[in-house]
Amino acid sequence: MSAKSKEGLDRRDFMIASIATVGAAAALAGSAKAQDAPAPSADQAPSGTVYTGDVIQGKKVVSALDVNDLEPGQRHLLYFQGAQMPTGQHWHVSVTVAKGVQPGKRGVLTSGVHGDEMSNIHTVQTVMNRLDPAEMSGTVMAVTDIARPAVESMQRRWPNQGRGIDLIDMNREWPGNENGLTAASRHAGLLFNRLLRPNADFAIDFHTGTTGFEVTAFNIGEMDVPEIKAMLELYPVGQIFDNPTYPGVLHNAFIDAGIPSFTPEIGAARVLDLEMIALFVEGTMNVLKHHGIVAGPMGRTGKDVTVFIGNSAFPILATQGGIVEHLVKLNDKVEPGQKVAIQRNSFGEVVAEYMSSVAGEVTGQRSDAMSEPGNPLVFILFNKAQPEGAEAYPE
Ligand SMILES: [Zn+2]
Repeated sequence: MSAKSKEGLDRRDFMIASIATVGAAAALAGSAKAQDAPAPSADQAPSGTVYTGDVIQGKKVVSALDVNDLEPGQRHLLYFQGAQMPTGQHWHVSVTVAKGVQPGKRGVLTSGVHGDEMSNIHTVQTVMNRLDPAEMSGTVMAVTDIARPAVESMQRRWPNQGRGIDLIDMNREWPGNENGLTAASRHAGLLFNRLLRPNADFAIDFHTGTTGFEVTAFNIGEMDVPEIKAMLELYPVGQIFDNPTYPGVLHNAFIDAGIPSFTPEIGAARVLDLEMIALFVEGTMNVLKHHGIVAGPMGRTGKDVTVFIGNSAFPILATQGGIVEHLVKLNDKVEPGQKVAIQRNSFGEVVAEYMSSVAGEVTGQRSDAMSEPGNPLVFILFNKAQPEGAEAYPE
């Protein structure tokens, strides 16, 4: 047993002991309920759909979902019961299932892992609205608001109640731990074990840039995995970041579970970029056609645009405080030694000039004009002769 799983087991035992104590107290009061039973671990997670009996705004609540249990040829709107809040209520996430009239592959589309990203939510909603279950072979499930408390305040990270508020990046928590020490970890564990993984033959986790740092339209994925490459090439967008990225991101948790997955990046945070969204809707519909879920001719793909594929993102970090002026735009090609940004202090004096060290394409730029030292100003997608593996990126 690895140190990690032993830690999880010990923690679970602790949780079960605590819950058993509460259960005994409840039994004395004559109100013990089945739902007070300890949560099973991932390998004991219930197979099949579990309805809690709750209904929120007309939508039934589930604590586990198997799309095979749902009526074919229909669209189903459900809430999934996620982690518990300090008040004792739960964070519920929105689940839409388009269950085809014929059997087939099962795709999972997710957004809202970061709460300040909006174009990704709209992309998933638009794809789901295009689907007609009566014409489909297979199932598509969408979960649009995964980090619910972060989405509520339109901020990147989950506000966990620790010693005061801790802000947790939920895209470093996957596959989560149902008995983890933070709500973000428990929420990730519940979703991954009982909602996402059991219903996915392939999965796409949609993102945008982050507040203060916008990106162009591109996909992050591993081109050396044939099933993933086939999907990446179906998007009519100009860049692919061919990199495994860091552990803990949702699409890597899917891959670790044997489910092909990748992450589209759809422009700036906080806004709807309808033009860019249309490209990702077209690409995602192509993916559904590729898997035989939806019939019809392919739309535009990577073949119809010039796709630049890079395996590394060269970061340019601010060395000074001041206002940044970009000298290049997203998608511009840059050369080594080319000046890409300058920075002025409060007197208007130029205090820094920033150059590219690589030949590549601009994939992300700081959009907040003011910067302090250390902030990423520009990311340049390029090809490293000997890639060093997973790289950080503000997805
Ligand atoms: Zn994100």
